Amino acid sequence: MTAAQDAAVVAPALDPEELVDRIEAGHRLTAAEAVAVLDAPDAETFRLVAAASRLRERHFGRTVKVNYLVSLKTGLCPEDCTYCSQRLGTEAQILKYTWLKPDEAVRQAGLGIAGGASRVCMVASGTGPTDRDVDRVTEMIGRLKDEHPQVEVCACLGKLKDGQAERLKAAGVDAYNHNLNTAESHYESICTSHTYADRVDTVERATAAGLSSCSGLIAGMGETHAQLAEAVLALRELDSDSIPVNFLMPFDGTPLAGHVQLTPLECLRILAVVRLACPDKELRIAGGREMHLRSLQAVGLQVANSIFLGDYLTSEGQDAEADLRMIADAGFTVLGAAAAPADDDGAPDGGCCGGGGCGEGGVEDASTRGGTSPSPSPAPRRRGAGTAEPANA
Ligand code: SF4
Repeated sequence: MTAAQDAAVVAPALDPEELVDRIEAGHRLTAAEAVAVLDAPDAETFRLVAAASRLRERHFGRTVKVNYLVSLKTGLCPEDCTYCSQRLGTEAQILKYTWLKPDEAVRQAGLGIAGGASRVCMVASGTGPTDRDVDRVTEMIGRLKDEHPQVEVCACLGKLKDGQAERLKAAGVDAYNHNLNTAESHYESICTSHTYADRVDTVERATAAGLSSCSGLIAGMGETHAQLAEAVLALRELDSDSIPVNFLMPFDGTPLAGHVQLTPLECLRILAVVRLACPDKELRIAGGREMHLRSLQAVGLQVANSIFLGDYLTSEGQDAEADLRMIADAGFTVLGAAAAPADDDGAPDGGCCGGGGCGEGGVEDASTRGGTSPSPSPAPRRRGAGTAEPANA
């Protein structure tokens, strides 16, 4: 029976505390239970979050892992993923540039590390790397590891071919990201230029080469709760070590422009169902948290244990300083940060602006885009990698 069929059969009443008791005793969340979590009423959602937070605390304590994105190559992709501002024929007004030079890539990564990131995610748009591209990335990562031997490096370069995962591993890459994004049963609705099976294949290649797998979701692309449950349980089957959960940012100029099906409480239920299905996996709140979780971002950290600092690949996040303050205000500590007292202003030592300023450049402050009337379209990134403006780190 597929996960979707399983979900269609039973819809158990949800008792979050009892469910977490069973999960702590070794129970694996069923598809029907996952759908019941996603169907939970708004009024029950904080109770659900409180129950799921027990699993978060058990496996990750009160730490938050901070990750930093470096977009090595942006836009100009020949694939047709409907959710993506970098897709073939996009009219989204994003930055478009080809490969950063190695020195600049390492410099950009260093800004995120100075801002508190313990993992740097080196990302390039496109179907997948050529062998020459792998040469280029391995050179960057060799230099990055020489300068910052403690940092974890995750590469995200698209579909991998024979031998490429092994070469990345040999160059010092720690992890490889390739998201499943959505359920197999929904995949053809969001992309026709490659298949769900292609994505699974790349995650499996990375794992087989000894890389830590990072694979996650984009929620809010027209999928049903049964399909979301199907995707979450597929990630569990894939044994992904880290699971980024993105909430669709519907860029103007893409097929999903203006599509908003999520609420902040729905986003919390999505995070909760991933935690309940994968209790001991790194759960990262990824793109779209400012737009969709809005004032509940810190509540999301009661379930998730990882976030991106600052900006995303093609859009601007809230100021890195606000990210670090949010973590501290909610009583968490940044994983790997020195145990230092907070400054008088509440921001941790060595935090934001240490490497080049944040919130500069006259761009819209994404943290003010929320409220009761969020913008239906994200603000394109106009700073950091690929620009002359200081990074948001
Ligand atoms: S998600 Fe990746 S493969 Fe798909 S269009 Fe965007 S950059 Fe290309």
